[in-house]
Amino acid sequence: MKLTNESINDKILKLNEAQKELERTVESVQSTCGHDNVAECDYKPSEYFNALPPMRVCLDCGLSEEGWGCGFRVLREKIAGLQPRRISREDLYSIRCGQYISQ
Ligand SMILES: [Zn+2]
Repeated sequence: MKLTNESINDKILKLNEAQKELERTVESVQSTCGHDNVAECDYKPSEYFNALPPMRVCLDCGLSEEGWGCGFRVLREKIAGLQPRRISREDLYSIRCGQYISQ
């Protein structure tokens, strides 16, 4: 169903097309990215629920993954012992997009 206003309908159509193009681009980049530029945020404790696990994000493509300790499967350290750069959970949430890998 559409609105009666064609100007708004046209903008909605263009927005939806742009969203689909963004999704295709993110999927394409993430499928070929080497994920060499990774950052990590710390776990988040909770008084009422289970703690949120640490998360990592690829700063090049936005792919994100959660995991405890060595539980990261895709965004692993390329060099043993070399830890990813630390960022806040809020910064991580602001840049992640596309594929999200949960435990
Ligand atoms: Zn990547």
